Parts: sequence; structure tokens; C-alpha cells
Amino acid sequence: MPREYRIQQHRGPASGIDYQAELNESQYSAVTSPPGAALVIAGAGSGKTRTLTYRVAYLLDNGIPPENILLLTFTNKAAREMLERVSALVSTDTNRLWGGTFHSIGNRILRLNAQRLGYQRGFSIMDREDQKDLMESVLAGAELDVGNYRFPKADVLIEMFSLALNVCVSLHELIEERYPYFGPVEESIQKVRELYERKKQETNTMDFDDLLVRVVDLLRDNVDVREYYQRQFQFVLVDEYQDTNKLQCDMVDLLCGENGNLMVVGDDAQSIYSWRGADVGNILNFQRRYPKAKTFKIETNYRSVPEVLALANASIANNSAQIPKTLLPARSGGKMTPALVSVDTPSAQAAFVAQRILELHEEGVELDEIAVLYRAHFHSLEIQMELTSRGIPFQITSGLRFFEQAHVKDVAAFMKFAVNRRDEVSFMRLVRLLPGVGNASASRMWSAWLASDGVKDGPLAQKFSALLMALPAPKKAQETWQQYAWTLDELVDEVGTPVAPASMIHSVTEGVYGDYMRTKFKNAEQREQDLDQLSAFASRFSDATEFLSQLALLTGVDTEGNQPGAQPQEKEAVTLTTTHQAKGLEWKIVFAVWLADGMFPHRRAIDDGGPEALEEERRLFYVTVTRAKDELYLVFPVINHQARDGNVLQRASRFIEELPDELVDPWKITAGW
Ligand code: ATP
Ligand code: MG
Repeated sequence: MPREYRIQQHRGPASGIDYQAELNESQYSAVTSPPGAALVIAGAGSGKTRTLTYRVAYLLDNGIPPENILLLTFTNKAAREMLERVSALVSTDTNRLWGGTFHSIGNRILRLNAQRLGYQRGFSIMDREDQKDLMESVLAGAELDVGNYRFPKADVLIEMFSLALNVCVSLHELIEERYPYFGPVEESIQKVRELYERKKQETNTMDFDDLLVRVVDLLRDNVDVREYYQRQFQFVLVDEYQDTNKLQCDMVDLLCGENGNLMVVGDDAQSIYSWRGADVGNILNFQRRYPKAKTFKIETNYRSVPEVLALANASIANNSAQIPKTLLPARSGGKMTPALVSVDTPSAQAAFVAQRILELHEEGVELDEIAVLYRAHFHSLEIQMELTSRGIPFQITSGLRFFEQAHVKDVAAFMKFAVNRRDEVSFMRLVRLLPGVGNASASRMWSAWLASDGVKDGPLAQKFSALLMALPAPKKAQETWQQYAWTLDELVDEVGTPVAPASMIHSVTEGVYGDYMRTKFKNAEQREQDLDQLSAFASRFSDATEFLSQLALLTGVDTEGNQPGAQPQEKEAVTLTTTHQAKGLEWKIVFAVWLADGMFPHRRAIDDGGPEALEEERRLFYVTVTRAKDELYLVFPVINHQARDGNVLQRASRFIEELPDELVDPWKITAGW
């Protein structure tokens, strides 16, 4: 019998937090629960994230060294904010704590173990653009024999490989289930995957999925490494667990081991990433995987006024697949019932939102406390415009700003060149879209253009097509170049004066650029919608130059914060975001816009998604409304003039229609002069 000798945990200075006072009973039990597995499952705004934050503080208070704690969150920002809160609560140095997204933690682990995997420590991480370049070079050298069959393009291959990894199915199964039309070329696809994997190894690069997959492999295949990390991470905590996929779930399980101290928090009603392989089963099966796990439920919502909460509860009750939860408000009555605002058009919607923001700001609400939420990124366009023209600062977290997107810039390049025939940047951008045109031939074409009559100021000497076809385009590009030239003809009248901006956009997208998008982008449909939106916006302008300067100004504002060395903007600003990106966040005032049936829920979910797809959309709606603390505005335009088939009348979202009348307060909007 070895002698037992116990080392007492060295306690850091106690933080003096009064845990019992700052937490409710179930939060308190979770925060102070003894080591072991624990699941906190509760509705929105019930303090799940707060529970995790206090749990970290509690562990530190009990002398657990920060480096033995691993905190996994949905964004790096969330991790930073939680750690800042912890730092404010305790005096321990939280810099030593491991906190971040799955990818960032994966990266850290892989840097330390690269050699085991045949990588060098300094491996590079490819972004999507790099990944595509690499895939294209693989395809070019692959010598595939696919006969007459369609073969997926680089982007689509990347998507397929990634999905298979994230949901942990074989490529064969994935093709059978989701891409049956690629069945005949499966063998070649498999071959491409092998080549792609080899290429990554040869070039010492990893893609984003590698950051998870390779950690899982590393831990699975190497007992010593696994034991090392299981010892290192004495306590593992995961926020937003409902949106983990199989791969992330495996990674967590491997990092903490069967008897590990794993605390996960989540809300099955907020699972909104199944399209990316998230599996709400991870939370539902937790108890099976960790039989000794304790479950904590929180039934109080601290975030929202009762009026908002009543609406959220009523909405989610329409879903049949869920763990029933009752969520009672901790707060007392608010100032208003959620507003149901129907406006005529998307422009009126934008005007309403902007005006109301200004009023609220006058009343003393900080801009940081206001958010505009939408289903899809392109829904934000009109609002971005309106806020910009009224000088209301905003920050946008739903990906690129509208005008920074490649397809919007491409279309603008056509227009800019038609308006300004000396615009080298736009010219170069255009010709680089052509097949077989690299930098050298692009420069040759530009030099020839400079020497031609076309570049002269004043009326166009000849038609664009005549002038442009005289330029030395490489053979491979000839046919497309001809179409470009014809398109440019349509953008101006006989003497070279630009036509109305909306019809310019129309000519570009209906013609040659539409074709280009469909072969080039995997989400071409979405991008077409963007351009419809751009064209709707352009219809407010009769003059192309004026329209383009507006665009330029908007883009100029965009890049301010992105320049190297620029200070991050500390300015107060309204937040514009998709709901997907708004997970876990809260604002006093929330505007949910574009709540029209077909927009939210998305048309696809209505038409062919089946009940599960609609339920996921409803969860998304639930996440949207539960972001609001004090005031919620549900806004929808009756006329959608962005629709492909002209102006379309639309109904309010079924998620609004199905609510009891008394839960919303209809607002009648009139235009005043
Ligand atoms: P979501 O589901 O949206 O991620 P959540 O369950 O993580 O929400 P939190 O963001 O942690 O909820 O908390 C929501 C709000 O309620 C926060 O402002 C938080 O500070 C507050 N809150 C939570 N618990 C308490 C409490 N016991 N006392 C006072 N305020 C609380
Ligand atoms: Mg949270």
C-alpha cells in the first residue's frame, strides 16, 4: 500500500465574491458544484454564460491554476469578454487560462505537437481564398478522367470535404446522401481528396478543419499526448454547447476524458447551425455519454422584460422537437409591448429604423445598446445606406460589409469603367475576370487601351465594342471579352453618356456577369439577390456618377478601421448583424427587420425543407427576439421591390401570424412631409 500524501491546493487570495448573492439558486449550485460532469440547460437569457463566468472565478478562488482551465466559446471575442469579467471578479492572472474558440485552441495544441503529425511548427493556416487556390492547383495537376460527367468546382469540393469531416461521415456516404449527382465521379473526387491532403502536408499548410480534425487524430492516436492534455485541462467548460458538431464534441470528450470535469451549457431551443453539421443530439445525449453528470436547469430569464419574454415563449412553444422549459421573467413590466411595424417598402423600413434610432438616442439610449438583426446579410443593405446618409455610426458583424464583397465590386467595376474610361483599377479588375488573363496580358490590354481613341475625354469615338475588340485579348479570353464589350455598349448611350444606374446593373447581371457568377461562386443565388438589392437601391439615383460616389463613400467608411495600424474604433455605434452572429449577445433595443414570410422563414425552408427546417427557422426567430432586453420592434415591408419578378406583395412572417394578438402592438406608419 503506497502511503497517501495530499498536497493542499494553494489558495490564491480570495476574491470576496458573494456567490450566493450574485447568483440564483440553480446558478449557485452549478457554479459551486463539486468536480465532475455537469450540464446546464436553460432558455435564453437565463444566465448560462454568467454561470460559466462565475464558475471560472470559483475555480480560481479555490486555487485551481488558470492554466489548468479550458474555456471554449463561440467566438474569441466572447472568450475575451468572459475572461475580462473574471479578471474583474478575481485577482488571479487570467492570461494563463486557455480560452477561445475550438479553432484557436486547436491551433495552440497543434503548434506544440506539429512534428508528431509530420508538420513543422510554423505551419501556415489557409483562409478560404488560399484553400481555393490550393485546390485549383490540385485539380490542374490531377489528370482526372471524368468523361462527360459534371465534376465539382474547387469551392464545392472544399465544402464537401469540410462537411464530411464536420459531421464525421465518409465521403462516400456524404455523396450518396447530399450530392447524389456526383455519384458517377466519386472515384475521381476521392482521388482529389488524397491529392489535396498530400499537398497540404507537402506545403506545411492546414485548413480550418485541420485545426479540429488533426487535434482529434492526435489525441486519439497518441496515448501519451492524450494523457498529457487530460491532466493539463483539469476543468473544461463549453458555452453554446447546442451548436457543437460531432467533431467538436469528440474534441471536447478527448480533451477531458471520461471522468473529466466537464461543464457544458446550452439551450436546445437555440440550436441554429445544423446546416453546418451542428448536432443538438450532443446536448441531448450528454447524460448517456457522462452517466454521472449532474443536470442543472435555470428557469428564470434575467435579460428581457416580461412582454418580450412572453412573445419568445409563445413562439418557441410551436416547435414540437424540444425539451420543454418554462422561463419566467425576473424583471418587472417594461415600457412597451413588442411593436409590430408594417411598412410599405424596404426604404420605408430603413427610414423607420433610422428615425427611431435617432429618437431613442435623443432619449438617452446609447447607440451601443441598439441592434438591428436580420436573417441574411443582404437584408442589411438599405439600412446601411440609410444610417450612412443620416450619419448614424454603425458596426457590422455579419461578415463583409455589403460593398466589400467581390461580386458587388465586380459589377461596380463595369459601371465605373463605363463612366470613367481612364479608370485603370476598374479596367484591370474586369479583364482579370476573363479566362486566361493574368497580370501580364491585363497590362498589355491596358497599354493598348491607353493608346486608343477610347480613352479620350468627351463623347465616345466609336462603340465600346469596336474599341475594346481591338485590344490584344488572349485567345482563350476572346469570346468572353466580346460579351464584355457588348455589355459595356449597353451601359452608355450612342455618345457614351452612362444610362441610369439601375439599368446598368441590370445589363451587367442579366448578361455576362450572371453567367460568370454561376460558374464561379457556390452561393451564386445569394449573390444574385445581393445584386437585385443593389439595383433596387440604385433606382433611387438617375445619375450614375452620383450613385458611384455614394458607393465609394460607403466603402471609404468601411475600410477606415481595417487599414494597417489604424486604431480600433472606440466610437459608440449601432450594431447590424445576422442572428447567427448575434448568438449569446444582448441589447436594450432590438429591431428585427425583413420579417416577411419567405424572408424569415426563408423560402427554401418553407418550400422543401420539411418540418425540421421550419423548426430550425423558428429557433432562429427565438434567438432573434430573445436578444432584446427592453424594446423589440418586429418590422416587415409589405412590398418587396427587390424580388426578381418585380414588385411583390408579401405577408408578415408566419412566426408573427401564429402569435396571440395581444402579444404584439401594431404600429401604423404614415409618411409625413
Ligand atoms: P443566451 O441563451 O442568450 O446565451 P445566457 O443564458 O447565456 O443567454 P447570460 O447572457 O449569461 O444568459 O445572462 C443574460 C443577462 O442576465 C445578462 O445581462 C446577465 O448579467 C443577467 N443575469 C443572469 N443571471 C443573473 C442573476 N442571477 N442576477 C442578475 N442578473 C443576472
Ligand atoms: Mg450565453
